[in-house]
Amino acid sequence: MNKLPSNSRPKSLRRILITGGAGFLGSHLTERLLARGDEVLCADNLFTGSKDNIRSFQTHPRFEFLRHDVTLPLHVEVDEIYNLACPASPVHYQRNPVQTIKTCVHGAINLLDLALRTDAKILQASTSEVYGHPNQHPQVESYWGHTNPIGLRACYDEGKRCAETLFFDYHRQHGVAIKVARIFNTYGPRMHPDDGRVVSNFIVQALRHQPITLFGDGQQTRSFCYVDDLIEGLIALMDGPATVVGPVNLGNPSEFTIAQLAALVIELTGSRSTLTYRPLPSDDPRHRCPDITLAGNTLGWTARVALREGLARTIRYFDTLLAHSDDVRGNHQGA
Ligand code: NAD
Ligand code: UDP
Repeated sequence: MNKLPSNSRPKSLRRILITGGAGFLGSHLTERLLARGDEVLCADNLFTGSKDNIRSFQTHPRFEFLRHDVTLPLHVEVDEIYNLACPASPVHYQRNPVQTIKTCVHGAINLLDLALRTDAKILQASTSEVYGHPNQHPQVESYWGHTNPIGLRACYDEGKRCAETLFFDYHRQHGVAIKVARIFNTYGPRMHPDDGRVVSNFIVQALRHQPITLFGDGQQTRSFCYVDDLIEGLIALMDGPATVVGPVNLGNPSEFTIAQLAALVIELTGSRSTLTYRPLPSDDPRHRCPDITLAGNTLGWTARVALREGLARTIRYFDTLLAHSDDVRGNHQGA
């Protein structure tokens, strides 16, 4: 039998690049793709991601980590690209807004060029933020959105909108095989405890019996998708029919006020936390809820995990994490 050269791979083995693979969603996607038998190259500059998120894969024979900033070109051989690189929490993406917009725009150009060179299929992790302050509710993909191009959220909203434009122009002009997912608020284990997003903030505050910080009157709404559902949606879109390029909304259509979320977290944690009101950040969208009919009809996908169940799983994760970090802190203080 002829021996294969050591660098050749079976044709069936897909080599998949995940940018932002050390982040919250990226690490879950990595886990799923490794479990299904793919080879995963994770490229991340660790701005908001963490090696802790990928520690359990580091010794996996089909996993490789590359410290890389997507604002710079990347030369690798891949079959598929999931472009997830970008801070997602308003606190983090507003910390260095110029870097955020470069990540969205230069990152998209560099990865689309890579897809073009290698003939790879590429998926963009876009966002419900492209709808801005929506005056259509729930949001359907055909709605063009209502964004403020010069506000504090614009580095992210407009960056992601421009990235979508680039994806469709590379598709029309160069025939690149694209997929665009518009992700609505997703939560779950491996969010960073200091991430700043509402679910992780409330759970950490509740577990520590600290005041729960409600921004504004708490009557603004969001629709929360559990991470496992979202990852299934991303993979269904990537693997779905070539004609389904998107944009496709992925999210859970059950809508809650932020005050309802706070009450549920307090109930599920049995916390003694009280509520404290803080000013509403500028341009904070009043309502957000996905219409997921398109994902259902074209991909057979729907969100399955109810908020109460997803929160319970996420609370268990943070409970263990905080107990461990409090132990470590206690040991250091005692030393
Ligand atoms: P996250 O902050 O946990 O992960 C983002 C990852 O990208 C991090 O590991 C970070 O270090 C990396 N990164 C940032 N800038 C980079 C750069 N210039 N080069 C290389 N790596 C870089 O956030 P997440 O929730 O996992 O979000 C992942 C993607 O999904 C993002 O693109 C985000 O915009 C999108 N998204 C997420 C949500 C959500 O609710 N989680 C909603 C809408 C869209
Ligand atoms: N929010 C809040 N308290 C917090 C963090 C967030 O009331 O500690 C609110 C925030 O103003 C927004 C909603 O929760 O209305 C969701 O915020 P997040 O940052 O999670 O996501 P996004 O605004 O991007 O949807």
